[in-house]
Amino acid sequence: ERLNNDFQFVDVGRKDPAKKTITSRRKEFVEIYKPFNEKDVKSQAHRCLECGNPYCEWKCPVHNYIPNWLKLVSEGRLFEAAELSHQTNSLPEVCGRVCPQDRLCEGACTLNDGFGAVTIGSTEKYITDTAFSLGWRPDMSKVVWTNKKVAVIGAGPAGLACADVLVRNGVKPVVFDRNPEIGGLLTFGIPEFKLEKNVMAQRREIFTDMGIEFRLETEVGRDITIEQLMSDYDAVFMGMGTYTYMKGGFAGEDLPGVYDALPFLISNVNRNLGFEKSPEDFIGMKGKAVVVLGGGDTAMDCNRTSIRQGAKKVTCAYRRDEANMPGSVREVANAKEEGVQFLFNRQPVEIVGDGKVEGVKVITTQLGEPDENGRRRPEPVEGSEEILPADVVLIAFGFRPSPADWFGDQDIAMDDGGRVIAPEHAEFPFQTSNPKIFAGGDMVRGSDLVVTAIWEGRQAAEGILDYLDV
Ligand code: FAD
Ligand code: SF4
Repeated sequence: ERLNNDFQFVDVGRKDPAKKTITSRRKEFVEIYKPFNEKDVKSQAHRCLECGNPYCEWKCPVHNYIPNWLKLVSEGRLFEAAELSHQTNSLPEVCGRVCPQDRLCEGACTLNDGFGAVTIGSTEKYITDTAFSLGWRPDMSKVVWTNKKVAVIGAGPAGLACADVLVRNGVKPVVFDRNPEIGGLLTFGIPEFKLEKNVMAQRREIFTDMGIEFRLETEVGRDITIEQLMSDYDAVFMGMGTYTYMKGGFAGEDLPGVYDALPFLISNVNRNLGFEKSPEDFIGMKGKAVVVLGGGDTAMDCNRTSIRQGAKKVTCAYRRDEANMPGSVREVANAKEEGVQFLFNRQPVEIVGDGKVEGVKVITTQLGEPDENGRRRPEPVEGSEEILPADVVLIAFGFRPSPADWFGDQDIAMDDGGRVIAPEHAEFPFQTSNPKIFAGGDMVRGSDLVVTAIWEGRQAAEGILDYLDV
């Protein structure tokens, strides 16, 4: 009788899926959330107020039909929910796991005002996971195939989303990636405790069955030239990400024992997935005092990977306060539960050590006036330096664009920061200055989110379809 209750949101509070025990979370590289069960997901979905003008939909970067699929779930119409969910999102089960919902859909939920937002992310994950396990697959039976084909460079969320929309419209996508598996940072970046690797492996099978072709371990510019792609295909989409590591610009960054975040995370994935070429490539934290510098998603993933590898102590130093951290609130809370020590308002000034890392000199900061982005600038407090002892330092300051050396030959224009210029609001959305080449994701907007990369990949596919006039 619960399902007929219009005041469900009062009677039934928000309930997130259960988490695994802290003991297992400190050791295991598996997702920390258990799946929703059918009873809970139905009663949680029924908490939705079906607002006439749903803010959650506007705040969701791909504008998912959230109240509509929540209703279908509450009524047990799972396959219809999966179909609807895929109309706007190419990787809903991934977004359900890794989106910072607290600042997107759930942050905008009307119930996020004392009652507790609807569990949108976990429901989105449930719909696709469960529909797939019950045998649902995207319906390609009505696709009318054209004779057009498009080369997609990069199998990250932007490239995959572009390929998904193209193939559903009868255009053949061939996706090139230098990595041995699809996913981009979803596979070689985001760790298993947020997103298990079998999720992308399953997607690869489904995308392949839909007609997307993958050419992996193939780097454009090394194993195949861009000129070749330009002559063999009707258009090219670039979703190549951002891979230049930001540096702190202080002394000691080159000392042995200082690592950039991504090589550390990738070495862990390579070991877990069996892609490790030599044991020396592995960067391990067992028994070590680790200091992580940074406060975003990448820093959190370094913290929590170090804990699972058996670090003696993991300290995360961030130059602003907790309220001004850029990462997901949920993941900071998860890191704390797993034993990461946070030091807020600490800015690194030097990495110290004699031949190898021995510590990080930090200075206390206080927040000053807002900068050009509206974020309050951290200002050092004179005489407040201290040294945090460390065997290893992981630098997670973010990423800058990494333009390929062939962009110039192809007349691909970039802004001053090296981001490819591909405007969303144009005759052909996400077209670059070379009319045959489109681009989206981190390489266009700068490092951002999985869901924004998906949006840009999908919109670029619409631009390509218009350009190809199919
Ligand atoms: P990428 O995912 O970087 O994919 C680009 C692909 O292009 C790669 O596979 C690369 O190998 C390939 N490529 C590049 N050049 C070539 C070439 N010449 N030839 C062939 N292939 C090429 N976002 C969230 O929303 N939630 C999170 O929790 C989250 N956590 C993160 C954790 C970490 C550690 C990092 C680094 C990022 C995280 N992000 C998170 C951000 C998110 O992963 C990215 O914004 C997103 O993956 C960008 O997608 P993309 O497709 O533009 O690029
Ligand atoms: Fe929320 Fe992300 Fe799903 Fe949109 S894609 S509904 S923001 S979890």
